[in-house]
Amino acid sequence: MGALITSAMEGYGMEVRMEETVTGFETDGGQVTAVVTDQATIPTDLVILGLGVAPNTTLAAQAGIPLGATGAIAVDQRLRTGVEGVWAGGDCVEKFHRVSRRHVRLPLGTHANKEGRTAGINIGGGYATFPGVLGTAVTKICHVEVGRTGLGVAEAHAAGFDPVTAVVDSTTRAGYYPGAKPIRTKLIAERGTGRLLGAQIVGEEGAAKRIDVLSVALWHETPVEELLNIDLSYAPPFSPLWDPVLIAARKAWQAVENDRSHTEP
Ligand SMILES: Cc1cc2nc3c(=O)[nH]c(=O)nc-3n(C[C@H](O)[C@H](O)[C@H](O)COP(=O)(O)OP(=O)(O)OC[C@H]3O[C@@H](n4cnc5c(N)ncnc54)[C@H](O)[C@@H]3O)c2cc1C
Repeated sequence: MGALITSAMEGYGMEVRMEETVTGFETDGGQVTAVVTDQATIPTDLVILGLGVAPNTTLAAQAGIPLGATGAIAVDQRLRTGVEGVWAGGDCVEKFHRVSRRHVRLPLGTHANKEGRTAGINIGGGYATFPGVLGTAVTKICHVEVGRTGLGVAEAHAAGFDPVTAVVDSTTRAGYYPGAKPIRTKLIAERGTGRLLGAQIVGEEGAAKRIDVLSVALWHETPVEELLNIDLSYAPPFSPLWDPVLIAARKAWQAVENDRSHTEP
């Protein structure tokens, strides 16, 4: 999936360097002039660091608010912290992951807004709970759209699952329809049970938001077998007759079935 993104970036003239560690920067008069890696010195006049984020929980910790094992603030389903009368939501709190059943750090605005609403209702005397997250996210790199939900393969292994995968190349519209663009869909399912664990989509216009169908399936713990005939819409401007999600579900189910026929007597 990542190779599609790399190739889109290279198509715009960007050089993508991987397996290479940044070790420092060269400066001249307070101005950056080069990025130094373990392999090269690359002249530059601008550096943008994308290193992920960590919750700034110093204030909470100093106030005696318990943090979870992830380092973010621990809250219950009503967004109550361990200190009476203090609620928390957003990037600084741990989220319950509905697939791995573990607490994770997942800084997304979609979660933060829902948590804010939940905490607000509770603070105002009402009753609301936040049922956890799947890590559903979309983004766009150049003209390539990317979507993900649930666990990736490495995350599935780390959560104790034994995953099988299915990858399907299709088009965003009927193949003959003007403007049909490539879309690649990857499903991750549990070996043996066929339980859906996660999904990723990389493609051009119209690709990313398809992840939401799979997010709903994941939310309801739908096995890939049940996705095979799910009633998705079709008309040539919007999808091939077999939506990429359906084809991917069929491939994922085949992977589960093939695996069963090899392992069961
Ligand atoms: C560039 C970028 C793009 C993003 N795009 C997306 C996206 O497309 N989709 C998505 O779902 N998420 C996206 N996110 C993530 C999303 O913005 C965050 O998850 C969300 O804003 C978190 O909300 P929050 O309220 O927890 O924290 P914030 O929005 O960071 O708000 C925290 C506030 O607290 C204030 N503050 C901090 N310390 C103190 C203090 N001591 N006293 C008083 N105030 C304080 C800060 O100034 C800030 O205003 C993006 C994030 C970035 C940085």
